[in-house]
Amino acid sequence: MTVTDTTSAAIVGGPGLPQERRVVTEIPGPQSRRLLERKAQAVAKGVGHSIPVATVAAGGGVLVDADGNSFIDLGSGIAVTGVGNSAPRVVEAVQRQVAQFTHTCFTISPYDSYVEVAEALNRLTPGDFEKRSALFNSGAEAVENAIKIARHYTKKQGVVVFDHAYHGRTNLTMALTAKSMPYKSGFGPFAPEVYRVPMSYPYRDGLTGAEAAERAISQIEVQVRADNLAAILIEPIQGEGGFVVPAEGFLPALQKWANDNGVVFIADEVQTGFARTGTMFASEQFGIVPDLVTTAKGIAGGLPLSAVTGRAEIMDSSHAGGLGGTYGGNPIACAAALATIETYEQDGLVERAAEIGTLLTGRLNAMRAGDPRIGDVRGRGAMMAMELVDPATGRPDAALTSRVLAAAIAQGVVLLTCGTYGNVIRFLPPLAISDELLNEGLDIVWKALTDAE
Ligand SMILES: *Cc1c(COP(=O)(O)O)cnc(C)c1O
Repeated sequence: MTVTDTTSAAIVGGPGLPQERRVVTEIPGPQSRRLLERKAQAVAKGVGHSIPVATVAAGGGVLVDADGNSFIDLGSGIAVTGVGNSAPRVVEAVQRQVAQFTHTCFTISPYDSYVEVAEALNRLTPGDFEKRSALFNSGAEAVENAIKIARHYTKKQGVVVFDHAYHGRTNLTMALTAKSMPYKSGFGPFAPEVYRVPMSYPYRDGLTGAEAAERAISQIEVQVRADNLAAILIEPIQGEGGFVVPAEGFLPALQKWANDNGVVFIADEVQTGFARTGTMFASEQFGIVPDLVTTAKGIAGGLPLSAVTGRAEIMDSSHAGGLGGTYGGNPIACAAALATIETYEQDGLVERAAEIGTLLTGRLNAMRAGDPRIGDVRGRGAMMAMELVDPATGRPDAALTSRVLAAAIAQGVVLLTCGTYGNVIRFLPPLAISDELLNEGLDIVWKALTDAE
């Protein structure tokens, strides 16, 4: 099937879309430009966009725009469509559920699929202790609720977070997030009782995991103290902050200190969760078993859903009615999550993510060997990144990063950047992408980099 009638709303996405890169207009093409003009007139400017094209269909490893261009998708809508866009099981489950009932509010009258998602999360997250889950709509909402739960359980208020952390854009999660621009600037005042300590960032700090943990813990003990601290919140691999992978031993040392001191240890796996890093959850790769885990992005094939999962005694400490929301655990999102989880498990996508990791690691390290502007290659599984720097000084090169991004988009590759200093190119392909498309996408990125002066 080729996409010819680009104005038709009947274009079918999913893995049946031709899995090819195809650039037939300048980017953005005329239809996309028209949408962007309307967007500027209708949508608040604060809601930005990084890829200037109007999407009409997506699936497998491609995204098709209104002008008939087909992009290789190396972003998965920020690690959301791990199973691929419009994945067949998800489409079928959503269609079935939407015809059955669309909403009751779970806290008014419960239904089976919410409980089944909770059971799946309790089974899949690290730790063989008894667990409970609660469902929400967004990653930020899950993080907010994890903090609520930890505070209620410990009867303490302080929360420790890390340099380069990203936890969302609501008021509390802005406070938890490190980077001012664009996430916080001008949006204060921020929620109190949040304390930031140094992250382990091996490429930039040169410390071992033990040294970095000692630095963080001594700061916590001096500036907060365990008797004021409800929780330590950390992304096992930082997402928006630059795919920073902490040195070995850093996370276990933090967890041990938290466990020994009556502090709830929370892993924010919103970006790393659900097969992405080559294990179902990234915590597994670092030998940590968090008390609470927050999940969202990859959970439901693109439908809005998030969760807090963890130790039963902590999760059950809040009174009935203290947690919830009108839409949290919506039945359509839950049906999508069950189909998504089935797809990860039945289609071997954990193993596929590890395979993609091997391919990405090999290609990116080969690029690094040929170009000193690639200062670091890091990540796990299908969550890999390269940090671009000035080779003479090691300083972050955000301008080069932007040029590579623009050139890749013009050549039909959807690419994402990240990093505190805006100098990290991140690779988050759908796990449904073929090696062929992935390699072609990487060829384009390499050409964009070598062409960029
Ligand atoms: C994206 C993200 C969030 C926020 O999720 P939203 O659904 O955008 O609110 C929180 N934590 C991490 C680690 C994320 O990557």
